[in-house]
Amino acid sequence: MRKAEIVIIGGGVVGASVAFHLTERGAKDVLILETQPVQGKGSTGAATGGVRSQFETDVNILMSLYSIDFFRNWEIDCGYEPRGYLFFATTDEQFEYLKTNVEKQHRIGVKGVEVMTCDEIAKRIPGMNCDDIVGGSFGATDGFIDPLAVMRGFAKGAIARGARLEFDSNVTGIETHGGEVTAVATNNGTIECDNVVLCAGAWAKALAATAGIDLPVEPMRRQIVWARSESPLPEDLPMVIDLGSGFHFRPAKDTTNELMFAYPDPDEQPSFDTSLDDNFVQKIRERARQRAPFLYETEVVREKCRVGLYENSPDHHAILGGCGVDGLYFANGFSGHGVMHSPATGRALSEIILDGKANFLDVSCLSIDRFERGELLRETAFI
Ligand SMILES: Cc1cc2nc3c(=O)[nH]c(=O)nc-3n(C[C@H](O)[C@H](O)[C@H](O)COP(=O)(O)OP(=O)(O)OC[C@H]3O[C@@H](n4cnc5c(N)ncnc54)[C@H](O)[C@@H]3O)c2cc1C
Repeated sequence: MRKAEIVIIGGGVVGASVAFHLTERGAKDVLILETQPVQGKGSTGAATGGVRSQFETDVNILMSLYSIDFFRNWEIDCGYEPRGYLFFATTDEQFEYLKTNVEKQHRIGVKGVEVMTCDEIAKRIPGMNCDDIVGGSFGATDGFIDPLAVMRGFAKGAIARGARLEFDSNVTGIETHGGEVTAVATNNGTIECDNVVLCAGAWAKALAATAGIDLPVEPMRRQIVWARSESPLPEDLPMVIDLGSGFHFRPAKDTTNELMFAYPDPDEQPSFDTSLDDNFVQKIRERARQRAPFLYETEVVREKCRVGLYENSPDHHAILGGCGVDGLYFANGFSGHGVMHSPATGRALSEIILDGKANFLDVSCLSIDRFERGELLRETAFI
């Protein structure tokens, strides 16, 4: 029978980060099992790589602060580019919400985040229709990273310190005895282990069920439309987000005339569908038309559009840490923030597994128990 001390299910950015941080803290026998023949075929490969500290809950802000600092100082080039995130409000209530968040972000230690007036926004994004905009907020350290570079950097670091990464290794079940993890069943046979970290993204729920745990994570299609403009886009375009509708756009990396736009379509239902829906493209182009000619007067580049799965939790926050089965840990439910929070997640899981709790940051509010206790978190600005 094959053995490993810690098995990580899933070799996306989260599994790779958990392995990186576990081995950094001295774990010797870490095995990542990935069902695909290469890394990055899950959500990580579809992600656009936005990072931001502009959140509402303390825990999201703190996870971002830690992670952005990590990206900035990492010896690996992960493409961190602080182009900024600009949220705009179209009602007084939304503007108050942004102002309250900015105050909180300052208090927690976020630098370079500020409230903006409508005039300042109009100046910052020439050509955007600002008629309905009341005000906004801008975070200067928010921006972009390269999700695949982050994932590969973590995997390389973990492997250099002795972790093993096995491809074409499909986990079919988590085996337990007397309330403890004993093994994982795979297409290549059973592997005995003391600990399992479930990092299977949108596919995690069914695997958790094999250990008798109801993990409330649902797959949800996420479509990003990629478009090319004839003329150059406004200079230094940040990520721009309509807080009310969630419609957002950002420049594509390393171009002056290509951009991406998206919004959380309320018509989308949980599923594993990852096809590009022409209806959605039409709907989002209509939103683009209302917001700016430089968005609408573009041509959709179908082959560059991205479709993947969000792994949504009921309160749009991650589910981190252990559960009722000894030795079983979760790093799931990121609901669109798994790449940006991967450094903090990896560190948190490594401390929880090796030291019993995360000491660098209190992530206890993200434990799976919160759903049973009815202590859901509240974050309005999820996109
Ligand atoms: C279009 C899109 C845009 C996004 N944009 C952003 C963004 O701007 N910023 C951000 O932070 N996040 C973004 N996200 C979310 C982000 O991509 C995810 O939160 C993150 O990639 C989750 O990482 P993961 O490693 O948990 O999941 P994944 O990358 O999905 O990795 C899970 C891995 O588990 C493997 N697996 C599944 N089942 C099994 C099994 N039974 N056995 C073995 N292996 C298995 C899969 O093959 C996969 O490789 C975006 C997502 C999408 C779809």
